Amino acid sequence: MKMNRREALKFGALSVAAAATMATVTGCNEGAKPASASKAGKKVCKHKVVIIGGGFGGLTVAKELKKKDASFDVLVIEKNETFMSCPFSNTYLGKLEGVNLGTLVHDYAQPVEANGYGLLHAEVTAIDRATKQIHTTKGIVEYEILVMSPGIGYDYKGQFPTWDDEKINHISRIAPGALIPGKEHVILERQLVDMEDGNVVITIPAGKFRCPPAPFERATMIASYMKKEGIPGKVIMLNATNSVSKGAAFKETWKDLYPDIVEHIDFATIQDVDSASKTVTYHLKDDMEDKGYKVKTLKYSVLNLIPNNISNPVIEMSGVETTTDSFKKVVMNGCSFQTKTDKDVYAVGDVVSHAVPPSGQTANWTGKQCALEIANRLHKKAFELPVKTSTIKAGNVCYSMVGENPEEAIMVIHDFSFSQEKNMIVSAATVPVSPSGKYRSSATAKATRDWYGGIMRDLFA
Ligand SMILES: Cc1cc2nc3c(=O)[nH]c(=O)nc-3n(C[C@H](O)[C@H](O)[C@H](O)COP(=O)(O)OP(=O)(O)OC[C@H]3O[C@@H](n4cnc5c(N)ncnc54)[C@H](O)[C@@H]3O)c2cc1C
Repeated sequence: MKMNRREALKFGALSVAAAATMATVTGCNEGAKPASASKAGKKVCKHKVVIIGGGFGGLTVAKELKKKDASFDVLVIEKNETFMSCPFSNTYLGKLEGVNLGTLVHDYAQPVEANGYGLLHAEVTAIDRATKQIHTTKGIVEYEILVMSPGIGYDYKGQFPTWDDEKINHISRIAPGALIPGKEHVILERQLVDMEDGNVVITIPAGKFRCPPAPFERATMIASYMKKEGIPGKVIMLNATNSVSKGAAFKETWKDLYPDIVEHIDFATIQDVDSASKTVTYHLKDDMEDKGYKVKTLKYSVLNLIPNNISNPVIEMSGVETTTDSFKKVVMNGCSFQTKTDKDVYAVGDVVSHAVPPSGQTANWTGKQCALEIANRLHKKAFELPVKTSTIKAGNVCYSMVGENPEEAIMVIHDFSFSQEKNMIVSAATVPVSPSGKYRSSATAKATRDWYGGIMRDLFA
């Protein structure tokens, strides 16, 4: 029996998902030094540098340290057994030609073998900075220097105070945020492939969140998929604010390519989700009634409820000082990647409070800076931050794919500088227009694919 294109999509993604679960696991013994037994009687190992999080930031720090000195004793603790990339994942949801789950999934054994650091697959459950011990689901790990790159968490409780744990678990399963690497993207992709018609509703949170262009790229890629497959319906964004990252470029694309598919609604605050009737209720900022906001109801076929973001719980476990906003980023020691609270604890990636965008590219850059600081410290060499003197051109280039046939993308460029005045690293953004006069171009689409291939090689080779 011949499969049609959409049936083939369903089968293809499942077989790649099965293959992805076969990745290799490594342990807490490479370079491990035995230490005293823990109270729980579990094995304890000790390492000079322990990195929490095998994502964009953590893998970079580990590799860079080993590159600087192969004798450095470095262990990464990562809870997931396979690496899954968030960057480029919207092209997987949009079914861009040549992209499948295998494009996003990588085997952790590869960088461990190539670079010689240790990797423990375990979940961190507590951190005791007084004894320099990290409690994990596989025992206690001791450190001399700790680097935290655990990424983000979701703040369902803060955003929906009336939801109990059961409702939060249910909604996070049926309407995953898909900003955290792992199964969320796969669940969302399955729902999109199974959808015959109707609205895809994407909610965009208030406050700071991971990769600010990501929800808008996702809406655009899903619209591209619906257009290509002739699926009747709309992609409706309920944005808690009126802020749209790369706004002019996305809005131009929506108007030119998806005028009947994409709808963006400003200042829409989500009130509730009813999964039985597949409806989401929300109110608009100025839409008041005497007894409260006027509630609007929207029916969905697929819901991508992106909750408010917060630093991953690992940061709270460490007890280091965090910013007072709802995200709770780690307060840094000036322009350094050392935390302000503890000279033996460093942070990189999305959790740092430097005024730089929370992206994979930035996590890679911050990881390299952090490794430089730690390597100098371990070699007992004086190290001065390039405060005042240094502007890093294109410290972050973040691409968003926006169309297929022709394949086109847009981008934002951030220059970073070490600001003595602000006592932190800061950035300035530009969204360039292509020579055609439009923001999007095929050349930027090619650069997007090249960037993704390059950063994967940087992390995994
Ligand atoms: C849809 C989407 C598209 C994106 N597109 C781009 C893009 O085009 N370009 C770009 O530069 N960036 C992009 N990003 C942003 C990028 O993914 C993040 O900014 C980047 O991953 C941050 O790196 P990190 O190291 O801080 O966190 P992560 O890469 O998320 O790594 C954190 C790691 O810590 C692990 N961890 C968490 N808690 C524990 C625990 N308790 N115990 C053990 N391990 C733990 C996690 O499993 C994870 O592997 C995108 C993000 C999304 C969601």
